[in-house]
Amino acid sequence: MSPDSTPPRSASPAGPFLADCHLHFEGCLPTSEIGRLAARSNHPFADLSAFESARRNVRDAQSFLLLYAEVCRLFRGPEDYVEAAIAVARSLADDGLRYAEIYVSPEIYARFGMDAGACLAAIDAGFQETLEQKGILCRILLDAVRHWGPESAGRVLDLYERLRLSSIVGFGLGGDEQAVPAAAFADVYLRARALGLRTSVHAGEWAGADAVREVLDQLRPDRLDHGIGSASDPRLMERLAEEDTILCVAPTSNLRTGAVGHVASHPLRRLLDAGVRVTLSADDPVLFSTTTRAEYDLAKSKLGLTEEELLRVAGNAWHAAFCTKQEREAGLRGF
Ligand SMILES: [Zn+2]
Repeated sequence: MSPDSTPPRSASPAGPFLADCHLHFEGCLPTSEIGRLAARSNHPFADLSAFESARRNVRDAQSFLLLYAEVCRLFRGPEDYVEAAIAVARSLADDGLRYAEIYVSPEIYARFGMDAGACLAAIDAGFQETLEQKGILCRILLDAVRHWGPESAGRVLDLYERLRLSSIVGFGLGGDEQAVPAAAFADVYLRARALGLRTSVHAGEWAGADAVREVLDQLRPDRLDHGIGSASDPRLMERLAEEDTILCVAPTSNLRTGAVGHVASHPLRRLLDAGVRVTLSADDPVLFSTTTRAEYDLAKSKLGLTEEELLRVAGNAWHAAFCTKQEREAGLRGF
């Protein structure tokens, strides 16, 4: 199906049509798929209690990144990614999502000795297949790893120039946001936009308002992943509201990685009250034992969002999405 197609309606859990624009591929694998991949390669995660134990031990950025890398190691070749993509899309659809934008990191595949283009094509094929079965539009955001520098990010765009798959809609930067200055990626972002890609960037997750200001000035992203560091700076929040920059905030991720110490101190409420447009994301649902829908439940029960605010936040996900006008309108009709 082409990117201009509208998502078909199908039976789904009650509530609005959810969209989530801040997810990472390996972090979205259902546990059953992790067990299947692990069993085939005699990895300890074949016993899911070993995976559960590793997941419980995530307490900071370091332990999270180690677990993410361990899950990446379960893949042996491009053929693994078709079934994994189908499992990811089914799992997101079962959570009530109609639209998902999922970071895929080709440089990781290359580092594991795989053909990154073939892996990407396999994920695209899996997503196309699930669209027909489950009615969920899954799109790919090309991910570059910040601490691997601008050359690595450039190779991600080289790959896109060779392989313009219809699922690919955007480009973003993840990884250690303090490792390399944002200015080093200014040309990469210019090139991504020239190639027709929309852009996002992880910022203000572990770093503060200065890091957010830096990416806004240097990279001009369409939206931000996390961005919670902005909440300490009223003038920055004013700027985000004025420029209509949407933040894809992931509360459970922030709590599990230690970016926020306690749920009561999560800045979501402060951002909303300052007029910043925010939406909710699961980030890496399987690694944080959450789902997109669970983030909405948490925002209601622990962060005090009203039903009206939850609807507005859910609508913001469709406004943040790098989808077509028709897809956005179809999504918002579900409200
Ligand atoms: Zn993320």
